[in-house]
Amino acid sequence: MSAVETACTYDCPDACALLVERRDGEMNLRGHPDHPITRGFVCRRVRNHPGRLRSPQRITRPLQRQGSSFQEIDWDRALDLVAAGLERALQETPASVVLVPGGGSLGLRKLLVDHFFHSLGPITRLGGGVCDETGAAAQRLDFGDKCAHDYSDLENTGAIVLWGRNPAVGAVHLVPFIKQARRRGCPVVLIDLWPNQSRALADRFIRVRPGADAQLAQAVLKLLDADGRLSAAAAARCQGVYELRTLLEATSLAELVSACGVELADVEYLAGLYAGGPVATHIGWGLQRRSSGGLAIRWIDALCALSGQVGTSGGGASYNPGRRRGLDTSLLARPSGRVVEASRFAEQLAALVDPPAHFVYLYGVNAVSQFADSQAVAAALRGAGLVVVAEAFLTDTAACADLVLPVSLMLEDEYDLVGSYGHHWVARARRAVDPPAGVKEDVEIVRLVRRRLGLADDPLLEDVAATLERMSRPWFNGDEPFTRNPCQPPVPFAERFATASGKVQLVGERPPAPPRPDPRYPLLLLSPKRRRFAHSQIPPGEMERPWPCLLNPRAPGLDEIPPGSRVRLVGELGAMEVKLLFREDLPRDLCLVPEGGWLAQDTAVNKLVAARATDLGGGTAFYDQQVRLEPIDDQGR
Ligand code: SF4
Repeated sequence: MSAVETACTYDCPDACALLVERRDGEMNLRGHPDHPITRGFVCRRVRNHPGRLRSPQRITRPLQRQGSSFQEIDWDRALDLVAAGLERALQETPASVVLVPGGGSLGLRKLLVDHFFHSLGPITRLGGGVCDETGAAAQRLDFGDKCAHDYSDLENTGAIVLWGRNPAVGAVHLVPFIKQARRRGCPVVLIDLWPNQSRALADRFIRVRPGADAQLAQAVLKLLDADGRLSAAAAARCQGVYELRTLLEATSLAELVSACGVELADVEYLAGLYAGGPVATHIGWGLQRRSSGGLAIRWIDALCALSGQVGTSGGGASYNPGRRRGLDTSLLARPSGRVVEASRFAEQLAALVDPPAHFVYLYGVNAVSQFADSQAVAAALRGAGLVVVAEAFLTDTAACADLVLPVSLMLEDEYDLVGSYGHHWVARARRAVDPPAGVKEDVEIVRLVRRRLGLADDPLLEDVAATLERMSRPWFNGDEPFTRNPCQPPVPFAERFATASGKVQLVGERPPAPPRPDPRYPLLLLSPKRRRFAHSQIPPGEMERPWPCLLNPRAPGLDEIPPGSRVRLVGELGAMEVKLLFREDLPRDLCLVPEGGWLAQDTAVNKLVAARATDLGGGTAFYDQQVRLEPIDDQGR
């Protein structure tokens, strides 16, 4: 049997093209060798995917809540219940319907589920998010649009700065391009709070103090400005140069260096790189998950722009090229209703009045695990009207539902499209394996619900492949499995910026001083991604308990933990037992607890994270949370 050419729709910037073969009931899944980014290999997350498809824990029949448990029901009954609940809510007002989509799949067929709900009227929708919204909003202010160079543009660079980026975990297909550039003598600098897994890729590691990335960018800018090394041509493409210089003059270099906690020699080294060039700056997502994360990105953008790195081949302030760029979405219904912000989801969902949430539909999202203040999210969902969750597993979020609808997973959907939020390639995803009996595709579910509402068939939902083909006409020439998105400019902003003036709108605001740690909670809690699993898509049998916590062996509070005792992390919202792991090279005031755990297993780190919004784009300030260590006594207290 010939291999199926398909694509990975996991929440990952690499958007790999895949080849899948079935032989003797076994699935052989590999990276497409002809795709210039995938280059024939896939990551551990997707190597685990066949096991996820075959998992005995998959839900294959709809579930209806019966008190504290669920009862299996047939699809007719489930769809009748969904349609009846939706109809009741619509009769009151569309605003009583709340739609919560997620990033469980980046496949663009999801847009058709959103289209169905938005075609019903001004429903309530999710605003902001838990991902990259803050940085994207910052780049829209600065450049008029978010941007990123293709990975292959590293062939043209003179230096690489990974600013809070960790490609060894988060974008493994960027790694060969970095190594290639390094082999030809291009220096690689990693700037982060800790020497992350990409440290081995870098010639120099610069540790920045938490919340002080903007001050580091300011310090480099100040040095460049003082030495007359800023690009006059670049300044002519910017608005707000005078105001920015005024801000720089208001703070001494010594104050900035002290605030960011970086050696002056490192600031001078960075100034030397940015004065030369081209420098490819790849900005990570972690640093914008703070209350002043938007300003941090804006100051890094300002450094890249004023040093002449933006609009230049081999340069760039690469963050996200926009995975839907050029996609024709004009045929889809537009969202127009009120918003519940993801960053404060629990509070805002519970506070909805006139009307309250009568019908909540969640799909592709494990909101309880992934949103801040997990316990409050679970409570808010339990307190809402009819909660319907389209899911493949009984996640924390599904456990809060009144109805759970079993859905197909990646490689099982008939047809999909995926764009990348890292590089410039787009790909088609086709069914490579049949879904198990009893599960349905997400669009099929809403198509059947629509019929039960007595509405005329929507041609966009009737033939998903045809609709997606229409939408992606700007991308493909024929039936090729992947292509470089012709709507992505190879060098973003080479001619003009996307702002109204056509120029960079430089940041005009000084960042707040990095917060002083609260002595009651001396550890800053970070929740990085893991190599093996995508977010909370962890098979329940593989959940480590207690959940790991990585920290310095001399971290504050450790000396009060009796040897051999169980340990918990305690924050303002509660506590969670952890298993301590140590790394000498971690800063003493950090602890790293992976994201993706589940509340039901006491591994959901977001139960410790208070719901706070960032300064831009409705992002979630996950990385503002302080915690402390405590021993657990013999009684488990
Ligand atoms: S998760 Fe990312 S790296 Fe892994 S196969 Fe999918 S797109 Fe590629």
